[in-house]
Amino acid sequence: MTVDLKSLVRDIPDFPKPGIIFRDIAPLLLSPEALHVATEAMAAPFENESVDLVAAVEARGFLFAAPLAMRLGAGVVPIRKPGKLPFETHAHSYDLEYGSDELHIHIDGVLPGQRVIVADDLLATGGTMQACCKLLEKCQAEIVACSFLIHLSDLQGEKRLAPHRVESVLVY
Ligand code: IMP
Repeated sequence: MTVDLKSLVRDIPDFPKPGIIFRDIAPLLLSPEALHVATEAMAAPFENESVDLVAAVEARGFLFAAPLAMRLGAGVVPIRKPGKLPFETHAHSYDLEYGSDELHIHIDGVLPGQRVIVADDLLATGGTMQACCKLLEKCQAEIVACSFLIHLSDLQGEKRLAPHRVESVLVY
């Protein structure tokens, strides 16, 4: 199946604020063929790996985590904003350009030593994924890799995630 995934990522200038070009995956999500190709491409680097769980950060990470997990024979563990998870959680706060944010994971979401891929739609500065990795470290997970559909390479988010392995499908 040949699908030009990049042609289905729409550039929205000045969103969410002036000077930012937002890469909008909504057109890609509308296409069953593109979704299939994108999920297969995200799974491909892990074909021969043993993976217990795919962790995903809300909200667009969820869209790829479940199909990726099913493809790899793994489960899914959600990472969420404060106040969303019903059970006891580990939390990690991280700085944003203006202010800070916090992410949570259930304390029993990952067992020590479980092999986890962390998935999100897009890697920009790496701040969000770095926070996810900190949470997984609190769970004593073994982080196999951080997996993205899109990597905005100018922002060098992969350096922030080092030494974790970074895999992405579309590089801009
Ligand atoms: P980072 O923390 O700077 O790496 O930003 C990545 C997070 O912000 C991801 O959860 C993305 O969903 C979201 N994000 C940042 N820029 C974009 C974009 O251009 N398109 C879609 N999502 C974005």
